[in-house]
Amino acid sequence: MRLYEYEAKKLFSQFGIPITTGEVVKTKEQAKAFAEKLGKPVVLKAQILSGGRGKAGGVKFAQSPKEAEEKTEQLFATKIKDFPVNKILVDEKLEIEKEFYLGITLDRINYKLVMLACSEGGVEIEEIARKDPKRIKKISLDVDQRFHPFRGNSMAGWLGAKGDNLKLVGKIAVSLFKLFKQYDAKLVEINPLILTKDGKYVAADARMSVDDDALFRHPELAEMGIEKRHEEGEMTEREKRARQWGIPYLDLDGNVGMFPGGAGFGIMGNDFIHYFGGKPANFMDSGGGPTPERLAKMLILLDENPNVKSIFGARFGGISRCDDFAKGVVMFLKEHGLSKPMVLRMTGNMWKEGVRIFKEEKEKNPEIFRNIEIHGIETPIEEISKRAVELAKKA
Ligand code: GDP
Ligand code: MN
Repeated sequence: MRLYEYEAKKLFSQFGIPITTGEVVKTKEQAKAFAEKLGKPVVLKAQILSGGRGKAGGVKFAQSPKEAEEKTEQLFATKIKDFPVNKILVDEKLEIEKEFYLGITLDRINYKLVMLACSEGGVEIEEIARKDPKRIKKISLDVDQRFHPFRGNSMAGWLGAKGDNLKLVGKIAVSLFKLFKQYDAKLVEINPLILTKDGKYVAADARMSVDDDALFRHPELAEMGIEKRHEEGEMTEREKRARQWGIPYLDLDGNVGMFPGGAGFGIMGNDFIHYFGGKPANFMDSGGGPTPERLAKMLILLDENPNVKSIFGARFGGISRCDDFAKGVVMFLKEHGLSKPMVLRMTGNMWKEGVRIFKEEKEKNPEIFRNIEIHGIETPIEEISKRAVELAKKA
């Protein structure tokens, strides 16, 4: 579960990580009043469950209470990265000397935690990791291990902190680790950690995700007003639609629409598409024994997705039946129509009946089959995957 910046900052502050205490507002009047109370320039930050707000216009500055009021009004009226803005964090504007990055996340490959630091903060760390990974310092941590102060200090030294600041930043690193473990986090991130012109270190942004499966261990979060939430704020419109239909669905950033028979086939298909140089546009599970209606809806999700350039379909009839599969596809073709090239493979339970349904329908309505290639056991799954990638590239 992802936390809002202001929620994560509450936890930061409990763990001794320095923040400025701002106020969360829901109206422009509240923003104005708080700016008056502060008597200083303020930063206005849209509280949405997404990063990259700065670039997207979700972080604004105001010199006066009047300006704070106006800009708050503007922020409430716009969508930031497709998210409506319902809450804004008003905070003292810090004078920046330098920005840093400090974060901890899971290292899923080595079954450890990893602390990351970079002396360029504010920018997207993923970008730096890709372009110039040497600029990021990593230290690997065992979950059960204590994070000794000297390791925090060595991180601080690497970030260029000296003297008293070395210990101070070292402590921030130690606290971040304690916080991570205390709340079964998947990610805690300070980006940027700001060194102000008057020599203070402040966490200017806070990002934190708690493992959903561990939430039951943290009733204190709810006591602090951090309610368990569905991550709907983070879902795309398509993912929300899929959820309403009861279809497990996730948008990815490729262009091959994945219409697999079951999650296992989905994972394998995903690997095959990558192997042949393509990129899946989604992950989807049909659930055991999907009805034709459900299958038709799965196809609607793909066909209406502008990122999808070709559709890869693989049905292995195990619990599910190929005749139902064929009925679902036919239902979709007749009622909705297919606008993308699709390559299908169908084998297993009731396969012959599935083939018969397709054949019969195609004789009646050849034009609705215009964009489909249907294969059976004679065509290996690799061929289907390759073909789907090819079709996406051609489109
Ligand atoms: P994000 O873009 O969603 O990660 O939002 P951030 O909270 O990180 O803000 C984006 C950028 O705005 C930061 O990298 C800073 O450069 C700037 N920023 C945020 N808070 C302050 C502040 O208090 N003072 C100043 N001067 N800049 C800030
Ligand atoms: Mn940030």
